[in-house]
Amino acid sequence: GIHRYNSTAAAAEEPITPPVTVPHTQLLINGKFVDAASGRTFQTLDPRTGELIANVAEGDAEDVNRAVAAARKAFDEGPWPRLPAFERQKILLKCADLVDKHNDEIAALETWDNGKPYEQAAKVEVPMFARLFRYYAGWADKIHGLTVPADGPYHVQTLHEPIGVAGQIIPWNFPLLMFAWKVGPALATGNTIVLKTAEQTPLSALYVARLFHEAGLPEGVLNIISGFGPTAGAALASHMDVDKLAFTGSTETGKIVLELGAKSNLKPVTLELGGKSPFIVCEDADVDQAVELAHFALFFNQGQCCCAGSRTFVHEKVYDEFVEKAKVRASRRSVGDPFKAGIEQGPQVDSEQFEKILKYIRSGVECGATLETGGERFGSKGYYVQPTVFSNVKDDMLIAKDEIFGPVQSILKFKDLNEVIKRSNATRYGLAAGVFTQNIDTANTLIRALRVGTVWVNTFDIFDAAIPFGGYKMSGHGREKGIYSLSNYLQVKAVVTPLKNPAWL
Ligand code: NAD
Repeated sequence: GIHRYNSTAAAAEEPITPPVTVPHTQLLINGKFVDAASGRTFQTLDPRTGELIANVAEGDAEDVNRAVAAARKAFDEGPWPRLPAFERQKILLKCADLVDKHNDEIAALETWDNGKPYEQAAKVEVPMFARLFRYYAGWADKIHGLTVPADGPYHVQTLHEPIGVAGQIIPWNFPLLMFAWKVGPALATGNTIVLKTAEQTPLSALYVARLFHEAGLPEGVLNIISGFGPTAGAALASHMDVDKLAFTGSTETGKIVLELGAKSNLKPVTLELGGKSPFIVCEDADVDQAVELAHFALFFNQGQCCCAGSRTFVHEKVYDEFVEKAKVRASRRSVGDPFKAGIEQGPQVDSEQFEKILKYIRSGVECGATLETGGERFGSKGYYVQPTVFSNVKDDMLIAKDEIFGPVQSILKFKDLNEVIKRSNATRYGLAAGVFTQNIDTANTLIRALRVGTVWVNTFDIFDAAIPFGGYKMSGHGREKGIYSLSNYLQVKAVVTPLKNPAWL
């Protein structure tokens, strides 16, 4: 029999008091914490209970104007783009050191605001944040152009210059890591920034941005606006003085910001959008290992990952065994207060996501997929959802097509390699894929045939600083992390001077 989540027991437990207080709730403009010009605030809520954490200054177009003006001035007149590169490097390294020093408070803020397990935030995400800044610090003094051959008597060189004021809009699923993926390369290459955090999770960015100023970042270089998408976000995307835009979030909003960028000043836009990534379990798989990895690929971070392995394709030879074991694994997933040790799954980020996930679960049942375990809310307050597994999922069901962004695993059956390649690629998305096989020929075929930005073979969700990340098709434009991310924040200037006395051409 399968384990049933005990909602009454969960409800009886009092939420653990977070080991941190909220230090900053104002906007960060030109190195200072300030109220919104309108004086307005919005509530950020605890996803464990739906109760208030703090009232946060609500930035809108006027605050975006102030922040962009500060970033413009810092770029046009300030020291940051003009510093020797190794001075920028030293400051970025100091930022990383200060983040390490305050690891636990930052992790606690992240967990409180987002609902993710504290152990995940404290042991993986905040250390990875520091690691990313050290990686980008390493690049700061290694950005340079080329000497280029010419057809005539010319000296030709390229200068790699910062692009200017970067507008950055980030989501709520990994507030700190999305900050690092965007701010890291932009600062290393000498740009200035206005970053808009997600309205669900404004807190951790304000904390780390303050640390960055302590580390010596000059005023106006990094401005943080808390606020909503259609107001603050849209103002940033359409601002005439923003030279480049980087966005992570849903494909629908990605289309909007791309259009706003085009309609204003044609700023280049990088987009990191949704996904419906296949996780393919081949016939030769060790089923126990495949179940564990597929479980991780989907359920990690409450299922709130753009690259979640949300279509688990399993070969018919191992399908029944896989479904049985996947059900048992999901039903044993430890759900509860994310501040509690050993918890694998906390609440979803907010009521909107919570309701949306439950709606998708109902649609799965209505379409005739088999609900193997879960399917309901967990507990009686907050935004917890039971780990849910569907088998007998068909390609045309909504749960197999849409990004659910929750702890809902859909298992689909396949017969042969060509079939699973076709079905894996039959989506508007192309972010990532997981391949589970011991057969190198099968792996090589899948690696090349899948139209996605990342293929993980016998592993999943490996996000090292140097590994590029981004999507094919409607999963986005461009790549973040690694060497590829630097060009998002650089202009290339070709410089040609005649050679008066060419020794040779
Ligand atoms: P969203 O795309 O609307 O929000 C992402 C960011 O964009 C937030 O900072 C938001 O304030 C901002 N934004 C929203 N509307 C905007 C606008 N008109 N102009 C400028 N900025 C705007 O995502 P969401 O509503 O938080 O979540 C909806 C769905 O998106 C989720 O259920 C999930 O499927 C997907 N999502 C994907 C990712 C990802 O990493 N790819 C992250 C979060 C959400």
